[in-house]
Amino acid sequence: MIFVTGGGGYIGSVVVRLLVENDYEVIVYDNLSRGHLSAIDKRAIFIKGDLADKDLLLEVFKTYPIEAVLHFASYIEVGESVKYPTIFFDNNVKNCINLLNSMCENGCYKIIFSSSAAVYGEPLSLPIRENHPLLPINPYGETKRLIEELLFSYEKYCGLKFISLRYFNVAGAYDNLGEDHRPETHLIPLIVKAALGKERIFKIYGDDYPTKDGTCIRDYIHVYDLAIAHILALKKLLKEEKSEVYNLGSEKGYSVKEVFETACEVIGKKIPYEIVERRPGDVPILIASSEKIKKELGWKRERGDLKIIIKDTFEWQKNFPFGYPD
Ligand code: UDP
Repeated sequence: MIFVTGGGGYIGSVVVRLLVENDYEVIVYDNLSRGHLSAIDKRAIFIKGDLADKDLLLEVFKTYPIEAVLHFASYIEVGESVKYPTIFFDNNVKNCINLLNSMCENGCYKIIFSSSAAVYGEPLSLPIRENHPLLPINPYGETKRLIEELLFSYEKYCGLKFISLRYFNVAGAYDNLGEDHRPETHLIPLIVKAALGKERIFKIYGDDYPTKDGTCIRDYIHVYDLAIAHILALKKLLKEEKSEVYNLGSEKGYSVKEVFETACEVIGKKIPYEIVERRPGDVPILIASSEKIKKELGWKRERGDLKIIIKDTFEWQKNFPFGYPD
């Protein structure tokens, strides 16, 4: 069985759907503080639980024959992490130690970890490769870096094997599963909300960055392609006794203005916008090299076109105008 923490969240729920569709038996563990009950595939076993609850975690690992863990549960909002760093260390790092201890104390030694491009901080070279120095510039990125370091320590002293997937900018939807963060802070869902009149206006955070049009450049990946990468990583981890780190991006950068203009074109509407102050903590450019995962796992992007990513986000928001019901 495969144990998925945060399976009610945006990325976790899509991966759970694909796991079930690929005939894996899945247990979802989520406290539903940020995730959504209706996003969890009904074919998975659902346990409402918190990673702070060591007793429940131990009971679950004793009860079920868990072969591997996919760990999505974490707080993800950079601005919130700057405001409340201790909550991030507690929820992301301390709870991850509970999870790793429960695993190792019960003979489960395989984990796929949702890491982030935020571990790199300001890029020293582009595109960013996996061996780029890890110099996070906010507590969120720091928690991801610390967990990666823990994974190496657990490998050294407990025999854990892991695959850490460093996500770049994820968007889009799959089936009836989409992005419903409250509050929403991500670019593509916010542009779509403005297009649908759910936000008064779309705000571009700064147009004075050292880029071609002055707005930040990011590397966007479709949630479906990201989820497929998890299935490939899981197969490798179950087969081989080897830990790895992979970037997951598209290797192509789009500026905020380019994403906005593409959205106006795809949706067929002049979306209201304004330029406002920079958002603290944003780096000018992030573009991944995904050579390694393509070469080693045969990963390919099937829904990589920015227009598809935006269209799928738009369709999902149209179908779920108020987001998930629970
Ligand atoms: N952004 C923006 N307006 C918004 C949301 C985001 O201009 O309403 C910009 C943000 O400053 C960054 C890029 O879009 O340069 C991507 O932001 P997002 O929060 O989606 O992802 P991040 O790269 O911060 O993980």
